[in-house]
Parts: sequence; C-alpha cells; structure tokens
Amino acid sequence: MESQDHKPWHSLSVREVEEILSTSERGLSDEEAARRLEQYGKNDLRQKKPKSILKMLWEQVSDVMVLILIAAAVFSMVMQEWAEAVIILAVVALNAVIGIIQEKKAANALAALKSMSAPTARVLREGEESVVPASELVPGDYIYLEDGAIVPADIRIVADSNIKIQEAALTGESVPSEKDGPSILPEDAPLGDRVNMAYTSSVVMYGNAQGIVVGTGMNTEVGKIAGMLEEEDDLETPLKKKLNSVGKILSLVGLVVCVLVFVIGMLRGRQILPLVMTAISLAISIIPEGLPATATIIMALGVQRMAKKNALVRNLPAVETLGGATVICCDKTGTLTLNKMTVTHVAINGDFVEGNATDASESVQKYGDLCRDLVFGCALCNNASKDPDRPGETLGDPTEGALLFYADKFGDDYDQLKTQYPRLFEQPFDSVRKRMTTVHEIDGKIVAYTKGAVDEMLPLCTHVLTKEGVRAMTEEDRAQILALVQKMSAEALRLLGFAKRELAAVPDDEQADVEINMTFVGAVGMIDPPRNEVIGAVETCHTAGIQVIMITGDHKITATAIAKQLHIYQEGNIVITGQELDEMTDDELDAAVKKTTVFARVSPSDKMRIIRSLKRNGEIAAMTGDGVNDSPALKEADIGVAMGITGTDVAKDAADMILMDDNFTTIEYAVREGRRVYRNIQKVIQFLVAGNIAEILTLFLAVCFNWADPILAVHILLINLATDSLPAIALGVDPSDSNVMKTKPVKSGSLFADGLLFRIVLHGVFISIATLAAYWIGELYFGNHPEAMTMTFIVLAFSQLVHSLNQRSNYDSVFHKNKEHNFYLFGAMAVSAAIALAVLLIPPLQGFFKFVSLGWKEWLIAIGLSLFPLVAVEISKIFMRASRKRKSV
Ligand code: ADP
Ligand code: MG
Repeated sequence: MESQDHKPWHSLSVREVEEILSTSERGLSDEEAARRLEQYGKNDLRQKKPKSILKMLWEQVSDVMVLILIAAAVFSMVMQEWAEAVIILAVVALNAVIGIIQEKKAANALAALKSMSAPTARVLREGEESVVPASELVPGDYIYLEDGAIVPADIRIVADSNIKIQEAALTGESVPSEKDGPSILPEDAPLGDRVNMAYTSSVVMYGNAQGIVVGTGMNTEVGKIAGMLEEEDDLETPLKKKLNSVGKILSLVGLVVCVLVFVIGMLRGRQILPLVMTAISLAISIIPEGLPATATIIMALGVQRMAKKNALVRNLPAVETLGGATVICCDKTGTLTLNKMTVTHVAINGDFVEGNATDASESVQKYGDLCRDLVFGCALCNNASKDPDRPGETLGDPTEGALLFYADKFGDDYDQLKTQYPRLFEQPFDSVRKRMTTVHEIDGKIVAYTKGAVDEMLPLCTHVLTKEGVRAMTEEDRAQILALVQKMSAEALRLLGFAKRELAAVPDDEQADVEINMTFVGAVGMIDPPRNEVIGAVETCHTAGIQVIMITGDHKITATAIAKQLHIYQEGNIVITGQELDEMTDDELDAAVKKTTVFARVSPSDKMRIIRSLKRNGEIAAMTGDGVNDSPALKEADIGVAMGITGTDVAKDAADMILMDDNFTTIEYAVREGRRVYRNIQKVIQFLVAGNIAEILTLFLAVCFNWADPILAVHILLINLATDSLPAIALGVDPSDSNVMKTKPVKSGSLFADGLLFRIVLHGVFISIATLAAYWIGELYFGNHPEAMTMTFIVLAFSQLVHSLNQRSNYDSVFHKNKEHNFYLFGAMAVSAAIALAVLLIPPLQGFFKFVSLGWKEWLIAIGLSLFPLVAVEISKIFMRASRKRKSV
C-alpha cells in the first residue's frame, strides 16, 4: 500500500501509480473501496463546526429586547414586585430556549439541503461505471472527468481527450491549461506545469479524461493550503436584514413615545416609579421580537417543502427573489421536453428529397449495408454508454444515447464497434461549434467521423456519399439538404448530420484542421417529445404576469414548432436566432426582448447578453442552464437555475436553485411557493406589528386621558411571547391564496408594498379602540381597577387571536369559501386561547398576574369587544374589494 517514500505522482508512470495504489484499470472492488474509505476518511474539505450552545445563548441574551427585559426585572425587584420579576425572567429564559431551538431547526434544514446538492463522481468499480457521492472517493479509484466537472480529488490523469482544466484556485492562472495524461514529468515540475495531474476544486472546461485518484480530502493540494474550511451559515438573508431594520425603526418610534408618555405623566403629576414601569411596558410592546426568527423559520419551511417537490434552493434569499420573478428563461432540451430522444427518421445515400426520409426501423431493411457509414458515425462518434444498471437507459448525453440504440438495430455487433475500432483522437462536442469529431482506424484506413447540426456541417462538406459512391457535392445537393432540414425541423424533429473523411495519419495536434473537405453521409431526425404538463405551467405563468422565454441551441424551426406546441410562442411573438442576436445593438435587443419568446441557435455566451438586456428592462429573471459555459449567466441572473440530472458541477455550483427533475413545471411551482412564502411573511408582519401598534396606542392614550395603567408590562409580555407567537408561525405556513398566480409579480424588496403599512396602522387602531373601550366600560360600570384590567387583557389577547384570521387575505372575507382551511391556525388559536384562559381562571396564576374573576356580564362584554376588529376589518375589506375592482376595469 502507499508509503510516503515514493517519487511525486507526476514523475511516475501510470503503471507505477497503479502499483503504489494497488489498483488497475478495472478500478477498485467495492469492498476495497469501503475499506479505504474507513482508512483515509471522507473526501471532504469542508466541515461544519457546530456553533456552541454558549455562543447561541450569548446571541440571544445580547439582544436589545432581552436587555430591556432584564433591566425591567431588576427594576421590579428593586420595587419588590417579586411576581413581576419572576415572570419577566421566566419569559427571558423561555424566549432564549425557543430562539435556540428555532435557529438549530433552520440550520439543520439548510444542512440537509446542502447534502442533497453535494457533487457526485463517475467512478469505475470492478470494471463497471457507477456514480457515487464525491465524498466517497478513495485513493486508487479510477474516475472519469467530463467537461463541467469540478475535479473532486487529486487525480493522476491516465488518458485524456483534449482536456482543458482551469486551475485558478490553485495557481492563480485563469486561462485553462491543457493536459497531457501519458507524460512523465521531472520531480521538481511546479504545480502549474504538471500536465498529467488534475487537482481538487479546479474545473474541467473542455474535453474529458480518465484518471486515478491519488489524494482525497485534506490530503490534496488544496487541502494542504486551505486547511479545513468552515462552512458559512447563510441564515442572514436580505429579508431578515430588512426586518431587523423595521425592528429598529419601530424601536425608535417606541423610544419617542416612551419619552412623550414620561413627560405627559410628569405634567399630570404622576408618581415616577409606576411611570417607569409604564415606559418599560411601552418599550416591550413596540419591539416585534418574534419577527426575524419567525421569518427565517417560514423561509426554511418553504425551502423544505420545495425540496420535497424537486426544487432545491441553495440559499434562502433565492426564495424571496423567486416570488418576484417576472421572466423565466428556460432551456428547451430536457426542461421543456423529455430529453428522451428517439431516432425516427433517416436520410442517406444522396436521397435527400423532402419527404423521402425513411422511418428509422425501415431503414435497416431498406438500406442494409448502405447504412454502414452512418451507423459507424452513430456508434463511434459518441460518448454515451448503456447504463449497466438500468436496461434501456444510457449514461451521458441523451442525443447520443438515441444514436446508440439506433446503431443497435443493425445487429448485436454494432454495439461492439467502440471496442473493435478504438478512438485514436477526438475533437469534443461543444455548443459553440455544435459538432464533434472522432478518428478511428478502420480496415487499415484512418477515418474521421463528424456529427453535428446539419446547417453547421454543410460548409465543411465538399462531397456527398450516394448509392453509387462518393461524388462532389452540387449546389442542388445543398439546396435539397437544406430543404430537408426545413421540412424535418418544422415537425419539431432534432436533426443531426454525419460526415466522414479519410486521413493520411492520426492528427497529433489538438487544433488540427480535421473538419474540412468532408463527405456528407446523411442525417438522422430524432424526436424529443415535449412535456405535456408544461403547457399548463406556461399558461399559469402567463396569467401570473410572468414571461416565458425558450432558449435553445436547436434549429429555429424546430424550436418554434415546439414553442408553439407548448404555448410559449404565440401569434405576434418574435423569434431571434443567435446570428440575428450578434447583429443587434443593445438598444435593439432591449426593445425586442419584450416580445421575444424564442431564442434559437444561440450559444451559451449569448445567454449573458439576454440576461443583461432583461435586467436593463427592470425584469427579475430566472435562467436555467446545465453546461460549463452557462455558469456566468447563471450567476448573473437574479435566479440561476441548474439542472439536477443533466447539469454539470459547475452549473450547480453557480446556481441559486437546482431542479432535481429538470422539469419546467418545477420552476413554476417554485415561483408559486416563493410568492406564498413572501405573502405569508407579510401576513405575519401585518399580524404582529398591528398588535404592537395596538398595545402602544392603548398605553399612550391611557396616559393622555390620565387613566391608571390599563394593562401591565407582564401582560404585554404574555401576549407578545406566548399567545401571539403560535398564530404567527401558523400564518407562516398558510396555504396560498387561490389567486396567488393570478396577480402580477410584486417587486421584491418592497416589503411594505400594496398598502401593508396602511393596514397595519388601521388594524392597530381597531384593536386599540376595542381594548380602550373594555377598560373604559370596566372602570365606569363595574368601577374597579383590577376588573377593568382583566377585561382589557381579555380583549387585547383575544382580539389579536381573532385578528389572525383576518390576515389570510387582504381582500377576501374570512368566510370566503374558496380557501383551504389552515388547521394549524385553528390549532394555534386554540392553544393560545387555552394559555390565556389558564392565566385568567386558574387561581395561583390569576393572582400572580393580578387578575380577578369576572362575572358573566363582564365576560360577555369583553368577548363581544374582542370580535370588533374582525367586524371592522371585514367592513374595510368590502372597500378594498371595491377599489380593486375599480382599478382592474
Ligand atoms: P440544446 O441543448 O439547447 O438543444 P445544444 O447547444 O446542446 O442545444 O446543441 C446545439 C446543436 O448541436 C443541436 O441542435 C444539435 O444539432 C447539435 N448537437 C447537440 N448535441 C450534439 C452532440 N452530442 N454531438 C454533435 N452535435 C450535437
Ligand atoms: Mg444540449
């Protein structure tokens, strides 16, 4: 096994490396891999250092609100109000415990999400390829690197085809370096020159390679430099920051009111000490203590819900942005279509007349041996392989998978072509060139096969293969082939052309001009059926005021045909091709993009221009992507969305959200959930802050009227921290409005948009009117302060509970039938009511809180008054509905 005294990996031959690591080109056995995992540990650079309980406790205690409360407790002790002091301290303790539990829950939810989006690796074990989590790689593993992969461990490259790796993280060199697997380097070769090595966390920009894992986890070059990286917490979202600043503003308002109350009280000749207690009650009542924590919980719950439905949000703020999305730019293949390609049409032998394309299965009988070159192209110029674990499925690009199955139709041996005629050279596929080439030795001749987009291939071809043999390509041939492209594209077929060329020798230079003077062999058309469920999702997006744009490298006519089937393209829309895009100025693009629903034949770099243009137009855009070249656009987009199945590591790393099922409907669902989360946070704000306003208003007006304290600090604490917090959380999981996807997107960031502030104040006034009325009636008719105070508490506590129902819609009545019930809210109201009744009725608690038993008349009046905010808000909703109607006509 590995000893430390061998030469560095880059100066050893592949054989020597295999020997040292006791591995072979069949890879390790499963048992050996498990044993080594035990020995070397996980292949991880990051580790989550758990926050200590002490630190969390300190964060809870150092909060302004908590400090005020502790001051209030000390003050109560000085005044020998022992009950008060005990209650306040108990509340502080309870609050800290709940806060810590909430934080832990949110952090756990995020950690679970992170592990779901962890990278994987294609590894060879016992001669069979399988996909394992990158963290389970061990030294000696044979792995396969493809473009877009983030190198998962330190690798000694064994064989490569034009692989280019960007190693900026290690060497600072941002230009990708070309690798050369078989070479053996001097021992002192610097890191940047080790062309036979690939190092952890560098990125495969192009090509592919096979290699042996030589170092994992901390035992890699990056591990040695970076040391154990601590994973950062991204609980601090912009929304939370906004809420914190809302809290600060409210606190400031509270401070001003405190001072006012103090001054007015002094002028009225009140005693100082009770006044201080009143001021403390005010301070307590104004701070929305539960708000930021509740908002985080709501988002974390939303993210968990979304993960269950295949939308993996990688950072919390994205939930917020999703709700405000105005445009979704979506790749066609795989997201709008099934990406289950099947070859359905074949045109070869110079027979390219429109309509003559033969059914793929018939072509086997019809052409027989004449198909040979086409089938060789299909089988050899191909990087996909059959999945040994799932018969009928392939690994790799589905387009290429379809070609493998087509080649199969010609007999079993066609499946073996790859082993029979090994690949000697490759110019890999990329979506800019839209083609790829491989070179093989066939019956003593060196032959290059190229496949790619037909219109891109025609300029490379000078000859054409017919039944009679190869002849020069005429203008007529070209016209015929182009007409065929048009015809088949219009039927939403994806067309691939094939060409071949005999070479004198295997090219030795990767840039060699292989793709010239080629002979056009034929074309295959394959169908990639659209996903039926997408039609509904697209229409939902349209009613929700969200524009859907299809972006594809496919042919304009194919793309438009599919866009029409999916209702993405409608009469009057614009289709722009990559070429047209190149000729447009930014201003022209900005004007056109508003009506564009299809971008065809574009390269990944064009996505960047499209995103920038949308942003200049003030849109909030989501953009999907899967390849290496997509990652800049994914970063630039407001919401970068990576494909979970076909996406590369790099794309996933750059994205805000990952679609585990690669399906467009999941984006639509995520937007819906984003809107719901945002709306629910608004509901919670509206609920909690209106309550706080009611409390402060009640205390303030009582002092103005020179009434004795209608309610005590501990009562307000009880309401804010016990009876209010459960309904607040229940509102956070409220089902969405039935019209959540029928309204225009709300600009994210404007938390107080849509009259939120107005409603908060209005509802606060309603609650405070009811509360003051309770106190007034209590004092006047029943003539007793403790009774009046008890009634005040009942109304303040219960009217807020009832008020939580009002929040579910700003327009629709509570009794509106079209709304799903929120049973959590009913439950929360019941528990909260039980808590309130317990302190009101159970003797020791009753005395503790300075309440008294009431007669049935007082109870009736208090309960009646508690319903007042419900009635008042219902009436205000009638006006809201009327004004909305006026606006919409
Ligand atoms: P999209 O995935 O949006 O359809 P791509 O950039 O993947 O776009 O493909 C662009 C074009 O390149 C396709 O229309 C097809 O003609 C061609 N193409 C796609 N995959 C391959 C491949 N594996 N080999 C050769 N040509 C391909
Ligand atoms: Mg593609």
